[in-house]
Order: sequence, then C-alpha cells, then structure tokens
Amino acid sequence: MQQKDEAAHEDAQGVSDEIIDTLRRWVDEVVVPGASALELADEYPTEMAEQMEDFGLFGATIPESHGGLDLDHVTYARVIEELSRGWMSLAGIVNSHLICAKLIDRFGTPEQRDRSLPGMATGKLRGCFSLSEPDSGSDAGALRCRAVRDGDEFVINGTKMWVTNGERAGIVALLARVPEGDPGGSSGITCFLVDKMPGKQSGGITVSRKIDKIGYRGLETVEMSYVDHRVPADRVLGGDEGIGNGLRWALAALELGRINVAARGVGVAQAAYDAAVAYAKQREAFGKPIAKHQAIAFKIAEMATKLHAARLMTYDAARKADAGERVDLAAGMAKLFASETAAELSLDAMRIHGGNGFSTEYPVERYYRDAPLMIIGEGTSEIQKLVISRALLADD
Ligand SMILES: Cc1cc2nc3c(=O)[nH]c(=O)nc-3n(C[C@H](O)[C@H](O)[C@H](O)COP(=O)(O)OP(=O)(O)OC[C@H]3O[C@@H](n4cnc5c(N)ncnc54)[C@H](O)[C@@H]3O)c2cc1C
Repeated sequence: MQQKDEAAHEDAQGVSDEIIDTLRRWVDEVVVPGASALELADEYPTEMAEQMEDFGLFGATIPESHGGLDLDHVTYARVIEELSRGWMSLAGIVNSHLICAKLIDRFGTPEQRDRSLPGMATGKLRGCFSLSEPDSGSDAGALRCRAVRDGDEFVINGTKMWVTNGERAGIVALLARVPEGDPGGSSGITCFLVDKMPGKQSGGITVSRKIDKIGYRGLETVEMSYVDHRVPADRVLGGDEGIGNGLRWALAALELGRINVAARGVGVAQAAYDAAVAYAKQREAFGKPIAKHQAIAFKIAEMATKLHAARLMTYDAARKADAGERVDLAAGMAKLFASETAAELSLDAMRIHGGNGFSTEYPVERYYRDAPLMIIGEGTSEIQKLVISRALLADD
C-alpha cells in the first residue's frame, strides 16, 4: 500500500523526496527491527535519537538562518509519518521539542531566537512543551501554575503533568499564570522559556515522577514540580508583550501540532495495514491464505480506504498551513480522522493476526497500545469536534 498509495504521495510532491527516501530506508533497516525490544523494555532509543540528530530532524522546522532544515509542513508530515511507521515514540522525541522551537521562532524576541534555536536545531539543546497540569488538560485556561514578578525575575510555583521529554530537556516552554495579567481569566497566562539542566533536578524544578504508560514508551513523560523557581524576566516569550498572550500562542502552535499528530496516526495506520496484509497472505486457514477469505479481503479493502483518506486529509491540512491559510478546521478534521483511523486499523490488524496479534512477538500489539495516544494528545477527539463545529458554525 505504501508503494501503491502513489496518488497521495505524488500529490505531496514539490518536496524533498530525498529526505523521505533516506528516512524510509533507515526506518526499514534500523527502526523496524529494533523498536519492539526497546519499547517493551521502556528503554530510551539513544542510538536512534543520535541518528535523528545526524539527519537534522531536531531542526526539521527551524529556519535555515538558525541552523535548521526549514521543512515545509507537507514534508515534515511525511517525515513524522515515516518515523511513526517504524516507532511512534520517535516522532514524540522531536515533536514537543519542535513545538517549543516553533513558539520561540514565531513569537520570541530576536535575542530569544538567537539564543536557543541554533542549539535546538542540532538537538544538543532539547526542548519540551508544558501546558497540562494534574487538574487541567482540555480546559487549558484553568491552569494553576503561578509566576509572580519579583524585580527582574518571576518566581514560579506549580505542578505540571505529562511533560514529554521533560527530563532530557534543557529548555521548557512553560505556561504559567501571571496574576497581575488577569487573575480571573486565561489572559494572564504567559509562556516562559525556562532554562534547566537536563536531569531530575535543576534549581527549584524537580522531575517528581516518571509516568508509566501502556504505550508511547521508551521516551519519558514526567510530572514536574516548580517550587520558588526563579526565571529572569527576559525569559518571558516575546518579552513584556508576551505577558497574557501565552495561551493564545500555545494554542496556535498546537494547531500545527495537530498536523503532526495526524501524520503520526497515518504512520501507525500504515504499519498496521502493512502487517495485516503480509500476515493475511501467508497465514492459511481452511486450505487457503486467509487473504482469500472475503471477510479478510474486505477488511483489508476498508483499511486501505481509510488509510488513504487519512493521508490525504493530513497532507491537505499541511498544504493549507504551507499556503499560510487558517488550518483550525483542516487540522482538526485530519487529527480527528487520522487518530481514530490508527486506532481502528491497529485493532483490525490485531484481529487479522488472530492469537498472534495478542503476542508481543508481533508488532501489532505495539500499534494497538500506541494508537490511543493520538486520540488524546494535543486535544482529544471530543475537543477536535468542538474545534471543527465551532469553525463550521461560526457566524460570518
Ligand atoms: C503520553 C502523553 C503525553 C503527553 N505529553 C504532553 C506534553 O508534552 N505537554 C503537555 O502539555 N501535555 C501533554 N499531554 C497531555 C494531553 O495534552 C492531555 O492529556 C489532553 O489534552 C487531555 O487532557 P486531560 O488528560 O486532562 O483530559 P480531560 O481534559 O480531563 O478530559 C477527560 C475527558 O473529558 C472530555 N472532555 C473534556 N472537556 C470536554 C468538553 N468541553 N466537551 C466534551 N468532552 C470534553 C475529553 O475529551 C476526555 O474524553 C500528554 C498526554 C499523554 C497521555
């Protein structure tokens, strides 16, 4: 199907096919054979991450002027799709890093861009994005983390949940509420560029626990607590203008993050589809390959159709982003459809594998455990429906 889905790929051309071809070979030769063992052991893929550094992927969407590859959204979506076809966690290693970089690039001051983006482009400086809290996720405006000004500094107190790459990060795009902004509403929410030492402790920041997950393993997702942690005032994203603009800017960055999650869904769905087809052709029952039983053949036809639609929707949203158009509707639809497709196809692939699908000897169980994250992260399916319906029903 990957080869056969030329219509979607040709449509996505005008992009660097060389990057995709190199990545595809690497995924087939290195990631596919190695992913399941690392994932089951919940082990960080150090060598794979180093190879991703060599490919320049930590700078994938960072401008060339700051050392990045400056990939357009369509190419970046295809990169994420390839990584996720091999192992979705690899996409997670670059994703929150690049959301942090995107915030700095779009909304940071020239000094903030010059200071952080070159190191981030090489991957030597890792970034993470920290919005969610124990009591606020979808309702991001309800966050409680506080940043109180004290002279030339802000003093930060609060607890953040679900910080992907939080321990390895040297810079955190942290959303906190500045009381003098507007304590009653979301307008006091500000994004801070918090510098930290990679590791469990840095100043008043503690990685208080690593969250054990059913999927998306191998990279850390952590809880982080801030106790009287001091951040210089010049680390407010965008300078003084940034006070109270953090949530709006973060939501804008997440809009693009949704294209990324949609692309992850396409990658996992592709992997599930490929595994299902290969298995259906070689597994025999009642005297013939199970692919020759119409129930299985029809399931494969349905899987291919949904996969193709998810890919086209994802590229469409990416193309709109490249054209500078509004992408809330297209990205919301792509994320909703592609993430649900990944979940459906991973279960379909498991069904087609029969008992073997339930065994850790075959990778489909990993796709089945990884897929639900796409339904939850960067806005759940219900939140996508809110975004989509608001865009459709808005008064002109
Ligand atoms: C593995 C993992 C990694 C993550 N990484 C990061 C990260 O790096 N940085 C970060 O900031 N966050 C991260 N997150 C957090 C993620 O963005 C949130 O989990 C997500 O936004 C949902 O928030 P919640 O978990 O608080 O669920 P809730 O907001 O409590 O939602 C619970 C349920 O209620 C539904 N719901 C909520 N509001 C509405 C509504 N208005 N209408 C209808 N239904 C509604 C939701 O759809 C969901 O089904 C990560 C999460 C996971 C699982």
